[in-house]
Amino acid sequence: MTTIQLKFRGRDILRASGPVNRAVPDTAWTPSGKEVSYHVVLPDSQERDVAMTKSLTQQLAGVGYSPADITYLALSHYHYDHTANANQFANATWLVRREERDAMFAPKTPPVTQPSTYSALRHSKTIIIKTDEYDVFGDGSVIINSAPGHTPGHQMLYLKLAHTGPVLLSGRSLSLSRRAGIRSSAHVRV
Ligand SMILES: [Zn+2]
Repeated sequence: MTTIQLKFRGRDILRASGPVNRAVPDTAWTPSGKEVSYHVVLPDSQERDVAMTKSLTQQLAGVGYSPADITYLALSHYHYDHTANANQFANATWLVRREERDAMFAPKTPPVTQPSTYSALRHSKTIIIKTDEYDVFGDGSVIINSAPGHTPGHQMLYLKLAHTGPVLLSGRSLSLSRRAGIRSSAHVRV
């Protein structure tokens, strides 16, 4: 899996990184060129084993960017395996739904979260999305869709790409699509 990072009209939007380094902050491990195993212990005592090869910083550098270059941050949802490097993007504008943000900063956070990985977003410039669809640039090229269920404020990203055509980054809605019998070969797991 790769970093999903896109440039539109001179502005950048980062959707997500691959599944492995979404789970562990770059600051918590050192890439060796080979797969690195990491045991995650979450605040709610749940444990996960993940394997990583490249850091998010490395993946971004591979396409010519650093975290400071990113203008917008939109997480699909708040689980630990989607927020690991969120603090690196605290200077970006965070696009989030009220119910998701409220849960992330509640005194008792939801299960399977790692609040330390996104704590810096508390003070980020934030746009609270109030509509089912949010057109990021106002031209239909990048639309964030509400898709609650997996988490209260889960969201998907619709992209209208010049050469590829429309692409839907479904986040964790994919499992729901499968259950409903919807073909999902075009989905990108993020
Ligand atoms: Zn999740």
